[in-house]
Amino acid sequence: MTDGPVTESAVTESPVPESAVSGEAVLLEVRDLTVHHGQLRALHGVSLAVAPGEVYAMIGANGAGKSTLLRSIAGLHKPTSGSILLDGQDLARLRPEKRVAAGIVMVPEGRRLFPSLTVEENLQVGASYARPGPWRIEGVYDLFPWMRDRRGQLAGQLSGGEQQSVAIGRALVANPRVLLLDELSLGLAPAVVRRIYQTLPELLASGLTVLLVEQDVSQALRIASHIHCLLEGQTTLQGPPGDLTAEEIEGAYFGLAGVNGPGGGREAPA
Ligand code: ATP
Repeated sequence: MTDGPVTESAVTESPVPESAVSGEAVLLEVRDLTVHHGQLRALHGVSLAVAPGEVYAMIGANGAGKSTLLRSIAGLHKPTSGSILLDGQDLARLRPEKRVAAGIVMVPEGRRLFPSLTVEENLQVGASYARPGPWRIEGVYDLFPWMRDRRGQLAGQLSGGEQQSVAIGRALVANPRVLLLDELSLGLAPAVVRRIYQTLPELLASGLTVLLVEQDVSQALRIASHIHCLLEGQTTLQGPPGDLTAEEIEGAYFGLAGVNGPGGGREAPA
């Protein structure tokens, strides 16, 4: 960008920050993010822009770096370089609990509930760093009505799908602006996953934005407004599902030749 004269329009504040990359409204932005685990480079120069109110899905094979990305956004891994911005504010200095208070809340892979606490006590933990907002424990019970009757049951006694729902409820009562969902489907029956994803429209209607990791590509294509594929820590393809062909997605996912997205175009294995 060249330095020009500062005109009136240049200093007028925009109500919604815009991506420096795309120029469109953006709530959460990741710029050129590189993250290492020891010697291993898990993410390399990943950039993305999540618009307010969208469902943005990260896809990619095992070890592609999807969880590392979400955990870095939540403040659980320190990036080697690059930046993460919420509403245009750099989050680098914010510890994980401060990021929750700022509106970034993660439902981690594997649920991570407190098994010896009740359903309701787990939900109360989620409210500890809550922002003001529409979600209360009662609202979670309205979303998942079975939970109201079983509020006194120990979380460790619930089925996998029930635990996943409590984990989502625990995140919701923190009143996130951006909800990070890491592999919701893991270990759950497809019907249970479908039921949980059926709650997405209600979450979006409450003003939420969702960034999720999903290994099941057809599931991701059904629910997301934007797909972003990682392969070995790098972006191989991204765009709205309607703009991407099955062939492009398959190529980007497995790293086959003929993919022309950023980081794509790799040789097919012999
Ligand atoms: P999966 O679907 O298997 O969870 P993923 O796309 O989420 O895969 P990550 O879990 O982010 O991938 O892992 C990216 C790479 O970083 C992998 O090679 C993984 O082994 C490695 N890795 C992840 N977490 C750690 C850690 N805490 N310490 C060392 N290496 C790690």
